Amino acid sequence: MRTPLIAGNWKMNLNLADASALAKAVKDSAAAYNDRDVLLYPTFLQLTQVAAILAGSKVSLGAQNCSAEKDGAFTGEISASQIKDAQAGYILIGHSERRHVLKETDAFLKQKVERVLEQGLMVMLCVGETLAERESGKAVEVVLGQLNAALSHLNGDEWRKIAIAYEPVWAIGTGKNATPEDAQAMHEAIRGRVAALNADIAPKIRILYGGSVKPDNIAAIMAKADVDGALVGGASLKAESFAELIRLAK
Ligand code: PEP
Repeated sequence: MRTPLIAGNWKMNLNLADASALAKAVKDSAAAYNDRDVLLYPTFLQLTQVAAILAGSKVSLGAQNCSAEKDGAFTGEISASQIKDAQAGYILIGHSERRHVLKETDAFLKQKVERVLEQGLMVMLCVGETLAERESGKAVEVVLGQLNAALSHLNGDEWRKIAIAYEPVWAIGTGKNATPEDAQAMHEAIRGRVAALNADIAPKIRILYGGSVKPDNIAAIMAKADVDGALVGGASLKAESFAELIRLAK
């Protein structure tokens, strides 16, 4: 019922030539499959070129962030409408590097969700607990609190524009990953909270897992009932490993 989605978050990596070559390779790898979706998040500066490469393919394009404001005097910022102009369909909101390194708050991220939805684009909201929060038994409370803060005000049409990525902060870029059982438990809790907010959307919403996903662990994680895909950092930067992840994402 839910089509698996494999998303590559390139972060602040790759120059234009490398990004173009990788986008072409991903386009070719994804072309072999009709039963799974693929999405790439290059840097802002590469969106236009990657959009041209992906045109006519079923690989979607997203931006890694957007401004919390619509437009105006916000030097260095990029708006959701400018991202839409660049042909991106998704915007990643609340990645842990933005929450924890750049100190973006729940209230600020809620504003960004609103900007994305105003443009009719898809939000991929990242949620996840730190190691200290997990060890103190607060993981579910923290994750559902992040979800509530960003999404609890949405109406039915807006919910159709949401995907969620559960990314435990301690697993991102560390080589550690949640066990499939821990990932399933959190995904089930997330889907349960979505059901309480919008019962119709809960069985349809895609909830991705992220945190050191690699070809050797994706199958066990994706085998879990509430895991609908993966948001991948490091392993999305090499054409071969990302092709393997697409192949294994059933
Ligand atoms: C990410 O950046 O969202 C991520 C999950 O990174 P990695 O796969 O490298 O842990």
